[in-house]
Amino acid sequence: MIKDAYFSETTCVKNMPSHSTTSDDTITQFINCFLLRDQKLLQEDLWVRHGKILDPEKVFFDEKVPADVRVDCCGKILAPGFIDVQINGGYGVDFSSSGADLQDGVQLVGKKLLTHGVTSFCPTIVTSPTQVYCQDLPLLHRSVGGEHGAGVLGVHLEGPFISREKKGAHAAELLRTFTARGTKDVFDIYGDMDNVSIVTLAPELPRSHEVIQELNRRGICVSLGHSIANLSQAEAAVQQGACFITHLFNAMLPFHHRDPGIVGLLTSDQIPPGRTIYYGMIADGIHTNPAALRIAHSSHPTGLVLVSDAIMAMGLSPGIHRLGQQHVEIHGLHAFVEGTQTLCGSIATMDMCLRHFWKATGCSVEAALEAASLHPAQMLGVSDRKGTLAHDSDAGWWIMNDFVLLDDELRVSATYIAGKRVWKQSDD
Ligand code: ZN
Repeated sequence: MIKDAYFSETTCVKNMPSHSTTSDDTITQFINCFLLRDQKLLQEDLWVRHGKILDPEKVFFDEKVPADVRVDCCGKILAPGFIDVQINGGYGVDFSSSGADLQDGVQLVGKKLLTHGVTSFCPTIVTSPTQVYCQDLPLLHRSVGGEHGAGVLGVHLEGPFISREKKGAHAAELLRTFTARGTKDVFDIYGDMDNVSIVTLAPELPRSHEVIQELNRRGICVSLGHSIANLSQAEAAVQQGACFITHLFNAMLPFHHRDPGIVGLLTSDQIPPGRTIYYGMIADGIHTNPAALRIAHSSHPTGLVLVSDAIMAMGLSPGIHRLGQQHVEIHGLHAFVEGTQTLCGSIATMDMCLRHFWKATGCSVEAALEAASLHPAQMLGVSDRKGTLAHDSDAGWWIMNDFVLLDDELRVSATYIAGKRVWKQSDD
């Protein structure tokens, strides 16, 4: 028997039936929605069972079974869950200085991220003392998301192997170079790297090539950033396996027509065949000018990955907050060191960045959504199970299909993980 759940525009998500009361074999059919699939919004239903997206033809013709539950999406967009591969914290939590409270902090942020459509993220640790890596990295396991919060897709380590000239807010006294020990330096500093997915480093540092090769061999994505590399150094790093650029334009040489530096990778003819170079962009309207967003997007749209690069002040109310050793003043989307005009990081959420990017570039809704979902999944090598609404895309232990419901203005109405609703916008 089909349980229908038809709702008005304002209450369609609120009245969804509880999946916790249904059996494991429940088939849920999301109807009246526009699915993001293969760069297009298609008016199709989405069928889900066991957290997997089903091929509707197989359900009809092979199994000959109807849906157990129907959910009317009221004409909204149903897109893959967002993946934030660079987030330093939020809601008062700093992943780089949480100490013994780190796991609680990651869980708190993960829970809050559901309200912004983020279903997976890479907690990011900035340049830190060795003991922080050794204590924290073993605790930051990859995890499957759910009602408890967004899943963790591995840690992003930003520094300490970065350029002194482009260190940004990283602590100068903790920066490192590679010695004759080469890759051994990396493991001496970080310790156990089993939970690491991304390392941001500066490719102009001597011996970086052997480090890039070794990290690549271990399945860790090397990202180029906080760097003064010229284009040929950047191209050589990509040829060694680097696949990402950390916050394009920020903390690297500015574009110059005779040597465009790392930025030049976007149109380089030296990218190995079959490879894509991905690049993160902080589209908060503050860290990157809209014209720069447009240049990047129009020259290399399939590599663009939206990141929040949010700091612990993200999600806090306007006013003054004590964050670590600092007092931070929040006005709108700006976070200043109290009493100054010094910006202390991004406080934009992924859904804000998505909307700003969409409006600033004039790109299609499909392109904007893929920059927040498909591209980061491809960059991390998990697009077989994340960032796409393909049928039966999941395999193995990580059976997950995460998606978000959005209105025409790309505001998040509800968030689903493994086909189960984990957050919905209040009607109040
Ligand atoms: Zn940075």
